[in-house]
Amino acid sequence: MEKRPFDQLGLSSDLLKAVARLGFEEASPIQTAVIPPILAGRDVVGQSSTGSGKTAAFAIPAIEKVDPKLRAVQVLILCPTRELAVQVAEETGKLALFRKGVAGVPIYGGQSYERQFRALAAGVQIVIGTPGRVMDHMERGTLKLDRLQLVVLDETDRMLDMGFRDDIEHILEAVPAERQLLFFSATIPRAIQDLIRRYSRDPAWIKIESVAQNRPQVEQTYFEVDRRSKIEALTRLIDVNDFRYGIIFCSTKIMVDDLDEHLHARGYLTDRLHGDISQAQRDRVMEKFRRRAFEFLVATDVAARGLDVDDLEVVFNFDLPNDAEDYTHRIGRTGRAGRKGRAFTFVSGQEIYKLQSMVRWAKLDLRRGKIPSLDEVEEARTNVFFEKIRSTLEARNFKPHDAMIDRLLDQGYASTDICSALIHLLQGATGVPEKKASPPGPTASVKPAPAWAGKVAAPKPAPVLPEPTAHDPGTAEESDRPRARKQKYERPARTGREPGMAAIFLNVGRKQLVTIADIVGKIAGVTRLPASVVGAIDIHQRHTLADVADSEADFIVKKLTGIKLKGVVLAPARAGEGVA
Ligand code: ADP
Ligand code: MG
Repeated sequence: MEKRPFDQLGLSSDLLKAVARLGFEEASPIQTAVIPPILAGRDVVGQSSTGSGKTAAFAIPAIEKVDPKLRAVQVLILCPTRELAVQVAEETGKLALFRKGVAGVPIYGGQSYERQFRALAAGVQIVIGTPGRVMDHMERGTLKLDRLQLVVLDETDRMLDMGFRDDIEHILEAVPAERQLLFFSATIPRAIQDLIRRYSRDPAWIKIESVAQNRPQVEQTYFEVDRRSKIEALTRLIDVNDFRYGIIFCSTKIMVDDLDEHLHARGYLTDRLHGDISQAQRDRVMEKFRRRAFEFLVATDVAARGLDVDDLEVVFNFDLPNDAEDYTHRIGRTGRAGRKGRAFTFVSGQEIYKLQSMVRWAKLDLRRGKIPSLDEVEEARTNVFFEKIRSTLEARNFKPHDAMIDRLLDQGYASTDICSALIHLLQGATGVPEKKASPPGPTASVKPAPAWAGKVAAPKPAPVLPEPTAHDPGTAEESDRPRARKQKYERPARTGREPGMAAIFLNVGRKQLVTIADIVGKIAGVTRLPASVVGAIDIHQRHTLADVADSEADFIVKKLTGIKLKGVVLAPARAGEGVA
């Protein structure tokens, strides 16, 4: 695909300076292809994949076209979400840095009208907004478009997916007829073709092909996994690669909820996004994810659309996407900004044929991978632990304990034995694996032993859950995930109720085929408390007694009330003394 230096595209020195300052070495293919016709005044339809530089492709010529002396809106850029509007406004601002007298403002729902009035009244020339809010301002008379010269529809496919078609048409009907119109989109479905036909004049259609070229940074692997083994496969891949920031895509809301609960119960920091979650809650989740307040976002395609993060370590296609376009959208969120990304795709049974046809159709570059064995997972964990010891030694990041060590040596112990004993003591709290670990987490028992993993230990029904306060928080290092997870896996089974625990009565039992994993998963998932608040679980024919941290018992009872588990509406209660 052709790329050219920016100085061959007919740009002013102001823009060339800005581009150089952003560190762009040459124009990307879409930029090379669309900037000259846009500068020449043509309508353009630009189609290229996510991450190919579409923003600068329209922002650069848009800035060039603005008359700085005219204090009126000349460019209108429509974006599907407020995140994108803000992002496009930021990039536009950087590109306009050396262009004196040119200003822009993002306008979107959720921000006060007052601020937006002021910016509009000050005479900005470029407005970047979501269709709904743009229409509001047009109706209030605070956004005047009589001097508008250029309209850009960014991420048009997403805007239509989000139901903005009527708003877009309304806006396009209202702007001056002689404006220039640009469509940008990763895909051009029929609805967009209709819009193009109705509103643009003899557009230059520019389609940049080749998924592979635009995404040389993403290593794409697929795994043939039995449906029931997907969660186990997922956690192994996360652990072996020591991933800490990624999105896991599922095809349904139910699957999102289910997987989020399971991962949470296994000690991963997760949260979820899907269509049934309120906009306010979604915003909170997205904001938290962007500042990495949790590790893995479990999401459906639609819910993840407005989310703009581009520095993910990994994208998991836990469920196969519908088509190659969705696949491309999903994996485009990793491997950006020059960093290598990974995309892991699970296929079960017949889905392999669907994947094959996607690969052929879109020329995807996928390799087949093998799910790591338990031994490999353990080895990876050992390596993480080893590396921690080594780097601590390297940095001399510890206080000397010579007196204690001398005492032990004086008593005749060998230094290697002393170290081994210390590692042994650390094991429960550090994530250093033992060979032949106990089954990986309580939820393993939900899923029958996977077909590809002969080494998975048979799930034990006995509680293998951790005590809530068993290790000394003073000695634990913050932010050490393998340790946090491992705790759950390797705590010894226990009998009797721990101090600080209370029993909760639940009206489900063996009759509903409920498992320990179901209970832990539900409690952790619904309350967002760590699974470690749950202790021993005793499943009876028609009821279950679950030990939970006393301090959280009332909260857990409240949160579980009315929630469905195995088709039963839960009516939990604190169990009276002596019941258990
Ligand atoms: P798209 O809208 O096509 O998904 P973006 O416009 O968001 O892609 O660009 C993706 C990333 O690539 C951004 O971080 C952007 O700053 C960067 N980028 C854009 N153009 C170039 C270029 N010519 N050289 C290097 N990086 C670029
Ligand atoms: Mg974009």
